[in-house]
Amino acid sequence: MKILVPTKRVVDYNVKIRVRPDGSGIELANVKMSMNPFDEIAIEEAVRLKEAGHATEVIIVSIGPVQASETIRSGLAMGADRGVLVRCYSPVEPLAVAKILMQIVKQEGPQLVILGKQAIDDDCNQTGQMLAGLLGWGQATFASKVIVEGDKVEVTREVDGGLQVLSLALPVVITADLRLNEPRYASLPNIMKAKKKQIEERTPEDFGVDVSPRLRVLGISEPATRKAGVKVHSISNLVEKLRTESGALQ
Ligand code: AMP
Repeated sequence: MKILVPTKRVVDYNVKIRVRPDGSGIELANVKMSMNPFDEIAIEEAVRLKEAGHATEVIIVSIGPVQASETIRSGLAMGADRGVLVRCYSPVEPLAVAKILMQIVKQEGPQLVILGKQAIDDDCNQTGQMLAGLLGWGQATFASKVIVEGDKVEVTREVDGGLQVLSLALPVVITADLRLNEPRYASLPNIMKAKKKQIEERTPEDFGVDVSPRLRVLGISEPATRKAGVKVHSISNLVEKLRTESGALQ
Protein backbone atom coordinates (compact mmCIF):
# COMPACT_ATOMS: atom_id res chain seq x y z
CA MET A 1 0.00 0.00 0.00
CA LYS A 2 0.94 3.64 -0.42
CA ILE A 3 1.16 6.00 2.55
CA LEU A 4 0.59 9.74 2.18
CA VAL A 5 2.19 12.08 4.72
CA PRO A 6 1.15 15.75 4.63
CA THR A 7 3.84 17.99 6.12
CA LYS A 8 3.73 21.68 6.89
CA ARG A 9 6.59 24.18 6.90
CA VAL A 10 6.33 26.17 10.14
CA VAL A 11 8.45 28.52 12.26
CA ASP A 12 11.10 26.37 13.94
CA TYR A 13 10.08 25.31 17.44
CA ASN A 14 13.24 26.87 18.93
CA VAL A 15 12.45 30.34 17.60
CA LYS A 16 11.03 32.89 20.03
CA ILE A 17 7.93 34.15 18.25
CA ARG A 18 7.64 37.93 17.81
CA VAL A 19 4.40 39.70 16.94
CA ARG A 20 4.59 42.30 14.14
CA PRO A 21 4.39 45.87 15.50
CA ASP A 22 0.98 46.43 13.82
CA GLY A 23 -0.43 43.23 15.37
CA SER A 24 -1.32 41.83 11.93
CA GLY A 25 0.55 38.58 12.45
CA ILE A 26 3.86 37.15 13.55
CA GLU A 27 7.24 38.23 12.23
CA LEU A 28 8.43 35.82 9.52
CA ALA A 29 11.30 37.84 8.02
CA ASN A 30 14.68 36.17 8.65
CA VAL A 31 13.05 33.56 10.89
CA LYS A 32 14.20 29.93 10.77
CA MET A 33 11.53 27.64 9.32
CA SER A 34 11.42 23.85 9.69
CA MET A 35 9.17 20.87 9.29
CA ASN A 36 6.31 20.76 11.82
CA PRO A 37 7.69 18.40 14.53
CA PHE A 38 4.59 16.16 14.58
CA ASP A 39 4.94 15.71 10.81
CA GLU A 40 8.49 14.45 11.31
CA ILE A 41 7.01 11.81 13.63
CA ALA A 42 4.38 10.98 10.96
CA ILE A 43 7.10 10.51 8.30
CA GLU A 44 9.18 8.34 10.65
CA GLU A 45 6.16 6.09 11.26
CA ALA A 46 5.42 5.81 7.53
CA VAL A 47 9.06 4.96 6.75
CA ARG A 48 9.11 2.34 9.54
CA LEU A 49 5.93 0.77 8.11
CA LYS A 50 7.63 0.64 4.70
CA GLU A 51 10.77 -0.89 6.20
CA ALA A 52 8.60 -3.52 7.92
CA GLY A 53 7.11 -4.46 4.54
CA HIS A 54 3.63 -3.00 5.15
CA ALA A 55 3.97 -0.20 2.60
CA THR A 56 5.43 0.07 -0.86
CA GLU A 57 5.71 3.84 -1.20
CA VAL A 58 5.72 6.90 1.08
CA ILE A 59 4.62 10.16 -0.56
CA ILE A 60 5.06 13.54 1.12
CA VAL A 61 2.71 16.43 0.34
CA SER A 62 3.26 20.02 1.38
CA ILE A 63 0.97 22.94 0.63
CA GLY A 64 2.86 26.20 0.86
CA PRO A 65 5.44 28.48 -0.74
CA VAL A 66 8.23 27.24 -2.99
CA GLN A 67 10.51 26.90 0.07
CA ALA A 68 8.24 24.10 1.29
CA SER A 69 10.13 21.93 -1.19
CA GLU A 70 13.07 22.06 1.32
CA THR A 71 10.69 20.63 3.92
CA ILE A 72 9.72 17.88 1.50
CA ARG A 73 13.41 17.19 0.80
CA SER A 74 14.13 16.65 4.48
CA GLY A 75 11.33 14.07 4.55
CA LEU A 76 12.76 12.42 1.45
CA ALA A 77 16.14 12.26 3.22
CA MET A 78 14.43 10.40 6.09
CA GLY A 79 13.38 7.70 3.61
CA ALA A 80 10.18 8.84 1.87
CA ASP A 81 10.06 8.10 -1.86
CA ARG A 82 8.69 11.19 -3.59
CA GLY A 83 6.96 14.47 -2.96
CA VAL A 84 4.15 16.71 -4.13
CA LEU A 85 4.41 20.46 -3.58
CA VAL A 86 1.17 22.41 -3.94
CA ARG A 87 2.36 25.98 -4.33
CA CYS A 88 0.42 28.61 -2.40
CA TYR A 89 1.71 32.00 -1.37
CA SER A 90 -0.72 32.93 1.36
CA PRO A 91 -1.45 30.76 4.42
CA VAL A 92 -4.03 28.05 3.77
CA GLU A 93 -6.65 27.18 6.39
CA PRO A 94 -7.20 23.54 7.47
CA LEU A 95 -10.42 23.05 5.47
CA ALA A 96 -8.75 24.08 2.20
CA VAL A 97 -5.71 21.91 3.06
CA ALA A 98 -8.05 18.96 3.71
CA LYS A 99 -9.88 19.55 0.39
CA ILE A 100 -6.59 19.57 -1.56
CA LEU A 101 -5.40 16.44 0.31
CA MET A 102 -8.70 14.71 -0.52
CA GLN A 103 -8.07 15.27 -4.25
CA ILE A 104 -4.50 13.96 -3.93
CA VAL A 105 -5.80 10.90 -2.07
CA LYS A 106 -8.22 10.26 -4.94
CA GLN A 107 -5.39 10.48 -7.49
CA GLU A 108 -2.75 8.53 -5.57
CA GLY A 109 -4.97 5.93 -3.88
CA PRO A 110 -3.10 5.55 -0.53
CA GLN A 111 -4.60 3.25 2.10
CA LEU A 112 -3.13 5.25 4.94
CA VAL A 113 -2.71 9.00 5.48
CA ILE A 114 -0.57 9.91 8.49
CA LEU A 115 -0.60 13.57 9.52
CA GLY A 116 0.76 15.39 12.54
CA LYS A 117 -1.80 15.86 15.31
CA GLN A 118 -1.40 19.62 14.91
CA ALA A 119 0.74 22.24 13.27
CA ILE A 120 2.65 24.19 15.92
CA ASP A 121 2.10 27.57 14.23
CA ASP A 122 -1.70 27.87 14.40
CA ASP A 123 -2.34 24.90 16.75
CA CYS A 124 -5.53 24.13 14.80
CA ASN A 125 -5.62 20.33 15.24
CA GLN A 126 -8.29 20.10 12.50
CA THR A 127 -6.82 18.93 9.20
CA GLY A 128 -6.71 15.17 9.87
CA GLN A 129 -10.24 15.13 11.27
CA MET A 130 -11.59 17.18 8.33
CA LEU A 131 -9.80 14.98 5.80
CA ALA A 132 -11.26 11.80 7.31
CA GLY A 133 -14.72 13.43 7.28
CA LEU A 134 -14.41 14.50 3.63
CA LEU A 135 -13.17 11.05 2.57
CA GLY A 136 -15.66 9.14 4.74
CA TRP A 137 -12.71 7.16 6.20
CA GLY A 138 -12.11 5.99 9.75
CA GLN A 139 -9.81 8.15 11.83
CA ALA A 140 -7.50 7.59 14.77
CA THR A 141 -6.13 10.84 16.19
CA PHE A 142 -3.34 11.35 18.79
CA ALA A 143 -1.71 8.01 17.92
CA SER A 144 1.06 6.73 20.20
CA LYS A 145 1.28 3.22 18.64
CA VAL A 146 0.33 1.89 15.20
CA ILE A 147 0.22 -1.81 14.28
CA VAL A 148 -0.79 -2.79 10.74
CA GLU A 149 -2.18 -6.33 10.40
CA GLY A 150 -3.45 -7.25 6.92
CA ASP A 151 -6.30 -4.90 6.03
CA LYS A 152 -6.69 -3.70 9.62
CA VAL A 153 -4.76 -1.27 11.75
CA GLU A 154 -4.64 -1.17 15.53
CA VAL A 155 -3.99 2.30 16.91
CA THR A 156 -3.33 3.26 20.52
CA ARG A 157 -4.56 6.80 21.18
CA GLU A 158 -3.50 9.16 23.93
CA VAL A 159 -6.74 10.38 25.52
CA ASP A 160 -7.34 12.40 28.69
CA GLY A 161 -8.03 9.40 30.92
CA GLY A 162 -5.15 7.23 29.61
CA LEU A 163 -4.87 5.12 26.46
CA GLN A 164 -7.59 3.98 24.06
CA VAL A 165 -6.96 1.16 21.58
CA LEU A 166 -8.93 1.19 18.32
CA SER A 167 -9.09 -1.42 15.58
CA LEU A 168 -9.88 0.13 12.19
CA ALA A 169 -10.35 -1.22 8.69
CA LEU A 170 -8.10 0.39 6.07
CA PRO A 171 -8.22 2.99 4.52
CA VAL A 172 -7.60 5.16 7.56
CA VAL A 173 -6.46 8.64 8.56
CA ILE A 174 -4.07 8.67 11.53
CA THR A 175 -2.66 11.71 13.33
CA ALA A 176 0.66 11.34 15.14
CA ASP A 177 1.20 12.29 18.78
CA LEU A 178 4.54 13.02 20.42
CA ARG A 179 5.24 9.55 21.84
CA LEU A 180 4.57 7.59 18.62
CA ASN A 181 8.30 7.35 17.85
CA GLU A 182 11.57 9.24 17.85
CA PRO A 183 12.32 10.50 14.32
CA ARG A 184 15.69 9.54 12.86
CA TYR A 185 18.37 11.97 11.72
CA ALA A 186 18.91 11.80 7.98
CA SER A 187 22.36 10.41 7.12
CA LEU A 188 24.60 12.26 4.64
CA PRO A 189 24.22 9.57 1.93
CA ASN A 190 20.43 9.75 2.32
CA ILE A 191 20.51 13.56 2.08
CA MET A 192 22.43 13.17 -1.20
CA LYS A 193 20.01 10.51 -2.46
CA ALA A 194 17.04 12.75 -1.59
CA LYS A 195 18.30 15.40 -4.01
CA LYS A 196 17.52 13.02 -6.88
CA LYS A 197 14.02 12.09 -5.71
CA GLN A 198 11.08 13.53 -7.61
CA ILE A 199 8.99 16.47 -6.33
CA GLU A 200 5.97 17.16 -8.50
CA GLU A 201 4.64 20.75 -8.45
CA ARG A 202 0.95 21.55 -8.49
CA THR A 203 -1.33 24.47 -7.66
CA PRO A 204 -4.66 24.56 -5.75
CA GLU A 205 -6.37 25.43 -9.08
CA ASP A 206 -5.25 22.03 -10.44
CA PHE A 207 -7.53 20.51 -7.80
CA GLY A 208 -10.32 23.07 -8.18
CA VAL A 209 -9.94 24.17 -4.54
CA ASP A 210 -10.60 27.75 -3.47
CA VAL A 211 -7.98 28.58 -0.84
CA SER A 212 -9.19 32.09 -0.03
CA PRO A 213 -9.46 32.52 3.74
CA ARG A 214 -12.80 32.11 5.51
CA LEU A 215 -11.52 33.47 8.79
CA ARG A 216 -10.44 37.05 9.46
CA VAL A 217 -7.75 37.56 12.08
CA LEU A 218 -8.77 40.58 14.12
CA GLY A 219 -5.47 40.95 15.93
CA ILE A 220 -2.54 39.11 17.45
CA SER A 221 -0.86 40.23 20.64
CA GLU A 222 1.98 39.07 22.86
CA PRO A 223 0.92 37.33 26.07
CA ALA A 224 0.87 39.64 29.09
CA THR A 225 4.26 39.71 30.79
CA ARG A 226 4.23 37.95 34.14
CA LYS A 227 4.72 40.05 37.22
CA ALA A 228 7.94 39.43 39.15
CA GLY A 229 7.57 37.16 42.19
CA VAL A 230 8.18 38.22 45.79
CA LYS A 231 9.96 36.36 48.56
CA VAL A 232 7.97 35.70 51.72
CA HIS A 233 9.77 35.39 55.03
CA SER A 234 7.42 33.19 57.00
CA ILE A 235 4.41 30.94 56.64
CA SER A 236 2.20 33.53 58.31
CA ASN A 237 3.45 36.13 55.82
CA LEU A 238 2.61 33.73 52.95
CA VAL A 239 -0.89 33.05 54.32
CA GLU A 240 -1.43 36.78 54.78
CA LYS A 241 -0.42 37.48 51.17
CA LEU A 242 -2.61 34.69 49.83
CA ARG A 243 -5.51 36.11 51.82
CA THR A 244 -5.10 39.73 50.80
CA GLU A 245 -3.58 39.52 47.32
CA SER A 246 -5.00 36.48 45.54
CA GLY A 247 -8.31 35.91 47.28
CA ALA A 248 -7.47 32.17 47.13
CA LEU A 249 -8.21 31.52 50.81
CA GLN A 250 -11.36 33.61 51.04
P1 AMP B 1 -3.51 21.61 11.78
O1 AMP B 1 -4.88 21.06 11.61
O2 AMP B 1 -3.30 22.91 11.02
O3 AMP B 1 -3.09 21.74 13.23
O4 AMP B 1 -2.48 20.59 11.09
C1 AMP B 1 -2.51 19.19 11.37
C2 AMP B 1 -1.65 18.46 10.37
O5 AMP B 1 -2.18 18.66 9.05
C3 AMP B 1 -0.21 18.91 10.27
O6 AMP B 1 0.59 18.30 11.29
C4 AMP B 1 0.17 18.41 8.87
O7 AMP B 1 0.38 17.00 8.88
C5 AMP B 1 -1.13 18.68 8.09
N1 AMP B 1 -1.09 20.02 7.45
C6 AMP B 1 -1.60 21.19 7.92
N2 AMP B 1 -1.34 22.20 7.07
C7 AMP B 1 -0.62 21.68 6.04
C8 AMP B 1 -0.04 22.20 4.84
N3 AMP B 1 -0.12 23.50 4.53
N4 AMP B 1 0.62 21.34 4.02
C9 AMP B 1 0.71 20.03 4.32
N5 AMP B 1 0.19 19.48 5.43
C10 AMP B 1 -0.47 20.27 6.28
